[in-house]
Amino acid sequence: MDKKIPSKAKLKEVVKRVLSSHLKVNSQEELARLVLARLKREDKNYVISPVRVKRVALEIHEVEIKAKTKKAVRLQKIDDCPICHSEIEPLEVKNLADKKVLIGYQCTGCAYQSDLEAFMPMKYAFLWKEAKI
Ligand SMILES: [Zn+2]
Repeated sequence: MDKKIPSKAKLKEVVKRVLSSHLKVNSQEELARLVLARLKREDKNYVISPVRVKRVALEIHEVEIKAKTKKAVRLQKIDDCPICHSEIEPLEVKNLADKKVLIGYQCTGCAYQSDLEAFMPMKYAFLWKEAKI
């Protein structure tokens, strides 16, 4: 049996469907589990990783992501992309106190992305924005 990786468009669509019906999911593992369950209805060979699901969720503007950390961590400052030397832009989300939290960096020129998961454990909550009217 071959493993099947969903396309980004496919993953986005399923993340939207999951979050619009659940409204709030409290961790990236839980979100990945719900998304995978839906994908497997179509094809049981689908595989996904929680980190990829979170990255796709970051690109959906109807989705708000909140990050929770136990302590503030200082990130090593990266000035340019280690691969193509283009400009790096921060990936930020709001925490539970509505303050911006840096969760990583992404390159404006190539697909390079650096994640804070490498440095610290983070807990994410995913909210469907239309839910908080
Ligand atoms: Zn780059």
